[in-house]
Amino acid sequence: MTEPNRVDWGQRAYAHARWLLEEIGPRGSTTPQERAAAEYVHRQVSGWDPPEVHWERFRAPTSAWRPFGVATAMGLLANGLATRTSPAARWTAAALAGLALWWGFRESDLEETWLGQALPQGASQNVWIRIPATAAIPRRRLVILAHLDTHRSPWLFQTPTRTAWFGRLVTGGFLSLAASTLLCWARGPRGPVPRSVAGLLALPQAVTLALAVDADRSPFSPGANDNAAAVGCLLALAEHFLAHPLRHTEVWCLFTGCEEVGCYGIRHFLRRHWAELDRLSTDFIDLELVGVGSVVGYLVEEGLIRRHRYSPRLRALAEQVAREEPDLPAVPHRGGAYGESVVIHKAGYDTITLNCLVPGQDAAYWHSMADTLDKLEMGALDRACRFVHALATRLDRSP
Ligand SMILES: [Zn+2]
Repeated sequence: MTEPNRVDWGQRAYAHARWLLEEIGPRGSTTPQERAAAEYVHRQVSGWDPPEVHWERFRAPTSAWRPFGVATAMGLLANGLATRTSPAARWTAAALAGLALWWGFRESDLEETWLGQALPQGASQNVWIRIPATAAIPRRRLVILAHLDTHRSPWLFQTPTRTAWFGRLVTGGFLSLAASTLLCWARGPRGPVPRSVAGLLALPQAVTLALAVDADRSPFSPGANDNAAAVGCLLALAEHFLAHPLRHTEVWCLFTGCEEVGCYGIRHFLRRHWAELDRLSTDFIDLELVGVGSVVGYLVEEGLIRRHRYSPRLRALAEQVAREEPDLPAVPHRGGAYGESVVIHKAGYDTITLNCLVPGQDAAYWHSMADTLDKLEMGALDRACRFVHALATRLDRSP
């Protein structure tokens, strides 16, 4: 821990994060521990007597990796069937490969599928509070969110070198599935696919399947930086905005479940509240991995396969904060996976994801067993809170 003498936001955020880590521990999606984290947040905000506290249940898949594992297994089966002499086997291969590719892409882009819905599900919850503006008629709304759950700790994520391969492996697995599909459809009607070609295409898919099986069996990460830090910051910010509401901006503080298995908490939230959200100009700030690093990072682009570019308006505002607040250095960066901003952006809202970064490094201790309480830096937590506050106050002043 660095900068131990930082007061206020950093200390408050740290105290919440410590409670989540020491009293609850890893908070896997749909587990009783994830629920305990939601209960902790609910107790905290209810104690401050905010105008409105909401607890909203939903059901979500229990695994981020299972859909990709099953889709890849379908691709492997298609590779095998495509080498058979029977036309029925080859047509089955073409259908299977096409279905696997479609499913894999939809999952990677956080879209619902009937195949995904057929996999095991569990109970989860969102907790959120509304903090009214002081003006009788608010001009805008700001939703600040942080997810409550923690990811598993796959072998692939246990060292920075391996983690750097994550994006390449995702692209490689997807491209080989796309090549299998093309081959099944183009070659299948005319005759068997040569075994050597099918074997070559199966190799990256076999690696993807092995990694998905390992990931699904790995223990849940303690989740200090991802994402107890953000939950702590959001609680600290909620307490602040309750005591000092913005003039023209209604603030919603949203603690989501099931981000780590495909951002199901935010999907549920947007589906449930779209009518009310659309009645007022609404922006989102997503807090992720804000507990380690001397620089604030704002994500300008994200996505596993299909890439999404986030709001230029909020990016310009983040750049303005970085220019005007010398003690809040901030840099743009690109995310290699998905986050809740993907869902928000696709629903048509302006959003920005904030992280804290160690210069020259990607997300610290991401999905790692080393993501423990001792890694959290009071200064990083404090900067994240102050950066959100700086963005919120500038939004509040904008017409
Ligand atoms: Zn996260």
